[in-house]
Amino acid sequence: MRIETKCLKEGYHPKNGEPKALPIYQSTTYVYDSAEQIGNLFDLSEAGHMYSRISNPTVDAVEQKIAALEGGVGALCTTSGQAAVLLAVLNLCSAGDHVVAVSTIYGGSINLLGVTLKRMGISCTWVDPNAAPEELDKAFRPNTKLVFGETLANPALTVLDIEKFARAAHRHDVPLVVDNTFATPVLCRPFEWGADIVVHSTSKYMDGHAVQIGGVIVDSGKFDWTSGKFPDLCTPDESYHGVVYTEQFGAAAYITKARVQLMRDFGVYPSAQAAFLLNLGLETLPVRMERHCSNALRAAQFLQASDKVESVNYPGLPESPYHALAQKYLPGGCSGVISFCVKGGRDAAVRFIDHVQMINNLVHVADICTCVLHPASSTHRQLTDEQLVAAGITPGLIRLSVGLEHIDDILADLQRALDAV
Ligand SMILES: *Cc1c(COP(=O)(O)O)cnc(C)c1O
Repeated sequence: MRIETKCLKEGYHPKNGEPKALPIYQSTTYVYDSAEQIGNLFDLSEAGHMYSRISNPTVDAVEQKIAALEGGVGALCTTSGQAAVLLAVLNLCSAGDHVVAVSTIYGGSINLLGVTLKRMGISCTWVDPNAAPEELDKAFRPNTKLVFGETLANPALTVLDIEKFARAAHRHDVPLVVDNTFATPVLCRPFEWGADIVVHSTSKYMDGHAVQIGGVIVDSGKFDWTSGKFPDLCTPDESYHGVVYTEQFGAAAYITKARVQLMRDFGVYPSAQAAFLLNLGLETLPVRMERHCSNALRAAQFLQASDKVESVNYPGLPESPYHALAQKYLPGGCSGVISFCVKGGRDAAVRFIDHVQMINNLVHVADICTCVLHPASSTHRQLTDEQLVAAGITPGLIRLSVGLEHIDDILADLQRALDAV
């Protein structure tokens, strides 16, 4: 099946006479005939739902769909994108371990890795997305456990050279974890380029309608965890009566551990209702992405032609330094997100934001309605000026998330705001 079909058909397969729509299994727990069967579930020797902090049939169907979209062996949904990044990292790192991360990633991930996980003893070295392989090698330490980057960074819009980063990670026997939120599996499937784990904030395009916060971790099943660097995956887990994940679950070792150990302990599993809403979004994802991409390219060209605009950052433009990487990794388009600088810095940016009418001014991105945001005074407010520059953000930068309104209406509103600058 092609991705358009998978978005509709994967995950839930109703049998004769069963509901056409994915049912919302609104239940915390599940009924079994015998103590032995429940014992088998606890031993992980039998598959089945036990308690909705760990799995639920509605969420399970959506996990299977997303795993199929990315081409992975399994997926684990979480209550937010932040929770997905947190568990993806903690599934490999303990106090004393180290992460190599690209400096242009999402502000929330920068805080998580740079501040909160640092307090918990997990350190991070930031690398430039354009770093040469030899430079990347210098960032690794004996205790490095993973490399982290974003396919299309929010909001810097740098395009990750996935093959370069995967090769660097694999030279040091660690996996590449890619946040694929902006690209979605419709525009890029990082596993096809060597990434090992994918995470998403499903709150963005996957949900698409700005109705439900969520996240997901997907396991490619391809990484070999037995090099000696990851004893937690290949020696007995005392907290799970001695299960050895790589032996019992093979290719699905990583995602199984994330569920039965970390999800059990952290309890950040989404509700059935949340998964139902996410599934609705996923069904139309390919059609929406196509229009987001074509509208955004038109808007980027329009902004580029304005004398009020200093620079436009959209990898779909031939002038973008990331255009060649975008053509390789994102041939179907570069999503709906553009960033640009109006002439006049911070004040001009604020004036622009205050003068859009139809376009929403809000803290969100990647939804069906066009919206604008000023990162320096909102999402990236906590970052120092140095971190702002490293994240590719200047004080006058505006993030524009192009939606599905008619392109003429979008351009007219952009013109109105530019006139006010
Ligand atoms: C929004 C976002 C996150 C965090 O996701 P939430 O669902 O808001 O917790 C992580 N990564 C990227 C790239 C994002 O855009």
